[in-house]
Amino acid sequence: MYKLGFGMMRLPLTDPKEQTQVDREQARAMMDAYLEQGFTYVDTAYFYHGGESERVVKDILTSRYPREKYVLADKMPLANFKNKGTAEDQAKVFDEQLEKCGVAYFDRYLLHCLNTENYETAKRLDTFAFLSGKKAEGKLRHLGFSFHDKAEVLDRILTEHPETEFVQLQINYLDWEDERIQSRKCYETAVRHGKKVVVMEPVKGGRLAKLPAEAEKLLRDIHPDWSPASWAIRFAASLPEVEVVLSGMSDMAQVMDNTGYMKDFTPLTEAEKEALAQVAEILSALPAVECTACRYCVDGCPRQIPIPDYFALFNSDQMALRQGLPVKTEEYQRLAAGGGKASACVSCRQCEQACPQHLKVVDWLSRVAKTYEG
Ligand code: SF4
Ligand code: SF4
Repeated sequence: MYKLGFGMMRLPLTDPKEQTQVDREQARAMMDAYLEQGFTYVDTAYFYHGGESERVVKDILTSRYPREKYVLADKMPLANFKNKGTAEDQAKVFDEQLEKCGVAYFDRYLLHCLNTENYETAKRLDTFAFLSGKKAEGKLRHLGFSFHDKAEVLDRILTEHPETEFVQLQINYLDWEDERIQSRKCYETAVRHGKKVVVMEPVKGGRLAKLPAEAEKLLRDIHPDWSPASWAIRFAASLPEVEVVLSGMSDMAQVMDNTGYMKDFTPLTEAEKEALAQVAEILSALPAVECTACRYCVDGCPRQIPIPDYFALFNSDQMALRQGLPVKTEEYQRLAAGGGKASACVSCRQCEQACPQHLKVVDWLSRVAKTYEG
């Protein structure tokens, strides 16, 4: 299996303000191009694109290709059952997912976003046992979980659940040594337990695709034709126990770029990894919101604040701020026209509870408001 997976969470939209409005025609062409070149791994989840991603999977993939042509991964939305929800609800969701995706079984199935809190929900609903039962019934082939917490929590879960076959981790060259995300420590923990690794957020929600000029020059001097995003994906794919690196592709250019170098993938050399360590140093010196643009926070916001869009803009303006140059106020106003301004936040903190990165969203929004609203 090639090491590039197609993440179905950042698909092209016909209406940029509405996550459920996936541009199916474009997405279909992207999927065709991806599969034509021999790639197979497709990753969806219950709440990607406001619940529409699984239906798109059916429309553009499972209703059009023979079952053996693709490896389909889906996930149990544990966060939906926090403090509520029963084992029956969990079973209903699983059946609904098979139906929405149009398949009789999943090749891969994950508990979505395990952390200390969601692990408690999984224990309450006996999710591991439930899914092991589904595996025995032939409704899923391989069981794993995606994970957002410290390495010691990962160690505990893997010790308590040796039936886990693989884990999905946030790994990228900026988070590799980060004490909050602990990419390296989590990877090493998974390997110590003998698990294969699927990588998510290799480009850190797009942050590693748009580098400050001095950082990009460093990389272009070595390989003028490698995009910054490709450097990031290559970094994750170079790890020996990584099976697949997921890329949430949003247009055909990204599909062609990614499939181009991932077909005959060769791991990075030590000198190339050293260049990325230098880029990480440059990026770490800039204040930035560690938002991965997963959009888990958006639906519950009573003020419809486009939180990740503001954070992406704020991050991209950090170099300008450092050099005393003007920020992109017009872009901010354009984003604000589609939802609430940052200053409209009422500090209800629903977003912070939903955020797998544990970001202090309210504090960051206040900085965004000061930067763009004066
Ligand atoms: S704290 Fe602010 S940004 Fe977060 S959900 Fe509430 S209103 Fe929206
Ligand atoms: S603020 Fe958190 S939940 Fe919202 S998009 Fe960013 S990382 Fe995801």
